[in-house]
Amino acid sequence: MTTLQTTCPYCGVGCGVVVENGALGGDRGHPANFGRLCSKGAALEHTLALPDRLTVPLMRGREASWDESLDFIAAEFTRIRETHGPDAIAFYVSGQFLTEDYYVANKLMKGFIGSANIDTNSRLCMASSVAGHVRAFGEDIVPGCYEDLEEADLVLQVGANMAWCHPVLYQRLMVARDMRGTKIVNIDPRRTVTAETADLHLPLAPGTDVLLFNGLLTHLAEVGALDHDWLAAHVSGFDEALDAARRSVPSIAFVAAAADLAAEDVRAFYDLFARTERVVTLYSQGVNQSVSGADKVNAILNCHLAAGRIGRAGMGPFSLTGQPNAMGGREVGGLANQLAAHMAFAPADVDRVRRFWSAPNIASRPGHKAVDMFEAVADGRVKAIWIAATNPADSMPRAGRVREALAKCPLVIVSDAWPTDTTALAHLVLPAAAWAEKDGTVTNSERRISRQRAFRAAPGAARPDWWMFAQVARRMGWEREFSYASAADIFREHAALSSFENEGARVFDIGALATLDAAAYDALAPVQWPCQKLGGGRSGPRLFGQGGFPTPDRRARMIPIVVRSEGRPADNLLTLNTGRIRDQWHTMTRTGRVPHLMTHIAGPRLALHPRDAAARGIEDGGLARIASPHGTAVLRVTIDAAMRTGDVFAPMHWTDQFSSAGPIDRLAHAVIDPVSGQPDLKGTRVQVVAVAESWRGLLLRRSAGDLAFGENVHWSKAPIATGFAFELSGHAPLAELVVSEQALRRLLRAPAEAELVSYSDPKRSVFRYAALLDRRLEACVFFATPRATFAEADRAAQMLGRILEPTARLSLLAGVEACVAHVDKIVCSCFSVGESAIRAAIRAGKFISAAEIGAALRAGTNCGSCVPELKKLLTESAQLHEAA
Ligand code: SF4
Repeated sequence: MTTLQTTCPYCGVGCGVVVENGALGGDRGHPANFGRLCSKGAALEHTLALPDRLTVPLMRGREASWDESLDFIAAEFTRIRETHGPDAIAFYVSGQFLTEDYYVANKLMKGFIGSANIDTNSRLCMASSVAGHVRAFGEDIVPGCYEDLEEADLVLQVGANMAWCHPVLYQRLMVARDMRGTKIVNIDPRRTVTAETADLHLPLAPGTDVLLFNGLLTHLAEVGALDHDWLAAHVSGFDEALDAARRSVPSIAFVAAAADLAAEDVRAFYDLFARTERVVTLYSQGVNQSVSGADKVNAILNCHLAAGRIGRAGMGPFSLTGQPNAMGGREVGGLANQLAAHMAFAPADVDRVRRFWSAPNIASRPGHKAVDMFEAVADGRVKAIWIAATNPADSMPRAGRVREALAKCPLVIVSDAWPTDTTALAHLVLPAAAWAEKDGTVTNSERRISRQRAFRAAPGAARPDWWMFAQVARRMGWEREFSYASAADIFREHAALSSFENEGARVFDIGALATLDAAAYDALAPVQWPCQKLGGGRSGPRLFGQGGFPTPDRRARMIPIVVRSEGRPADNLLTLNTGRIRDQWHTMTRTGRVPHLMTHIAGPRLALHPRDAAARGIEDGGLARIASPHGTAVLRVTIDAAMRTGDVFAPMHWTDQFSSAGPIDRLAHAVIDPVSGQPDLKGTRVQVVAVAESWRGLLLRRSAGDLAFGENVHWSKAPIATGFAFELSGHAPLAELVVSEQALRRLLRAPAEAELVSYSDPKRSVFRYAALLDRRLEACVFFATPRATFAEADRAAQMLGRILEPTARLSLLAGVEACVAHVDKIVCSCFSVGESAIRAAIRAGKFISAAEIGAALRAGTNCGSCVPELKKLLTESAQLHEAA
């Protein structure tokens, strides 16, 4: 039996994964998850052999060798650097990178090319936390650990839908709460499934977080809940911060009115915080992705610093990182405003890193942050960009403008494992090794470094990202400085730099790991930093319990936060909030190809409040057009009382490859936080109008292929076990689509030799067609009226690829009522348990707990990601029962 331990490549929880004889499961020995995996992690096995891998370099569409590709990049970078200067070159990298990938790319750009134009998609998720940490602590540091959630008496969740976005950590919290009685306050404009399980939900108006926490600071002062001894010994800036808070928040009533909350709820929250010593404040994208993201972070940190609730068991502010290695990227300087190893661009830092790297061209000032970087591409200041392991053509705000910028950039290099909308814009595509094929390290939200270990050979010519960057560096003349033979070589150098001339000045110090030999690196167990060389002062899971902040006077800084108005203009527009859903990851390059992960939410949906829907004549399940100055999209609507009026929510995941709606970030404005440079992805003002639907359809095909519809057809695609299911909706007469056999054959991807069979009932607007090749069902499409339902979609899907005798054809075409795929929402994607079955059983009085549902239907018994939704269904049923 062979066993190997590695780390999940999705979110910042950083769960351990065990590979045992080719089968994957949770690592019971990993301190992040103790064996648990969420629905995405539990489905990793299904992503290992996904089709369409990039396996060979592609130069303007033709296959090229690595030598040709790397020589070309080195020559072009050298020419551009000499002709236009180093700032004409940029790297845009990724929180999906391993630390070793990040280290080499950063070293090449900042030490040798001589620019700081390397930024990462972590700018889109974590930059505000980084800025807040640096302002308050002097360094980008999460002071606590996961055990703190289990040892707290009060946990605040601010702008964090943990149940869906950090599911395993959420499950740890829920278990601890059952044992300890932890109080939970959820602060989020939406009543998410996470909010459903909180003791108190504060659905604050977007952008009022600073007011709420400034109000908390003044309340703590008024009720005597400050720790004056701690403040005197370890904190500066208290008077100024409290003064600013008092000026912005005259009373609880003021906070309540501004944040659109009940005053008694605000008071209850403040009192709970004031009287509870062990408080952890978790925060994520609802805080970070804002024009005032860094201020929100510091408003939270101010409260913890003022009350002295930091660095001890069960207390502290805690930034939940989005990506698996956002933290590792920050450690090596993956952001354009960092240098390396938590050093910035102070002259002493620049000189230190220059000497350590023997760097001939060290950058001495920050480079372009993500949004500015693509602006520099657009206006020609950047003439060559290398994009690695990320898909900005879909994920950047104003994604359409990013595409335009890349289309006119003289040189676009993209390294990735699968084709994306960004690789489509590249002059040179480089095949990257994927998760299971790469060796290195990642750091999770609690500063824990874990090994990611390769257990599959990379297909074709695919190579690790660090290898590509090192090869280009060597071909640019820096052979010796980039002579790494393995990820272990890079890690040792990274660890050595962290402790180089450190002497306790920087908390990020992993010098104890700088001498690991290959075997020790391979066997490295998960370890939290700092881990200094023998005799170093700092260690342990918590920092700052005794002060000792990495600032010149060793004191933390409270920051006076002036409230900037984020009030809404009096217009008929709504505010677009974008975010994650439970079973998808980023732009769906992996999770979007796993059939059971598409059953929870099968297509892009726009959630809006019943009042906003009614005011616009929009029906639940109908279509709406959403428009900003940067683009439009048509999405199917979910009317959801959990939304605030004035807000709409759309998932960030779908792209042009999965839906006619395309990436929602195409509509997002590119407004950024002036402190952190993080885009405000939750504040775009949009117009939303109803779209009349003429017909609905379900297309089932064995192959994906393109859909050549015009703008009058809305579609979304989901993989199914036998092929692909396309949900279709028309905003123009159906006749336009099925007017000719040729059009039908295109839709069904039916070659001339395929047999076409059909059934039509024009009076009922029912039209059904199937294509058979050698009597096997290749594709079928059903059209009907907009309100039709299709109860037998699953049976039709099972027939794909099978030989159909005449009676089966008849049954396929005549035996269905109409057509809408996925009528029943799948709650438990592990065991495909639908919402209607669960509701029916609850109604029949069979279950009163999630455990009972699990025992009977298996729902929630594997990864547990759906348990919050099971509890929500139980609560809703109980409320209905009470009301009756
Ligand atoms: Fe992976 Fe889920 Fe763990 Fe995140 S919570 S690391 S996605 S298994």
